[in-house]
Amino acid sequence: MPARDFFHSVMRIGPVQIGTHRDRNGATKHAAVCSSDGCGWSADYSTQSAAQLAARTHRCRVR
Ligand SMILES: [Zn+2]
Repeated sequence: MPARDFFHSVMRIGPVQIGTHRDRNGATKHAAVCSSDGCGWSADYSTQSAAQLAARTHRCRVR
């Protein structure tokens, strides 16, 4: 899992937290990170709306 030293959680949709962080180029990225045990899904998006959409459509892989 990549380090998110500057991750700031700004909202939560279900188990998914959405926050902003900066990539190594200094650009702001919107990250969606699932906090469910055993899921570990996370992804970066360039816009918050894209991250929100991904969070709403995310389905955990529950075994
Ligand atoms: Zn999940």
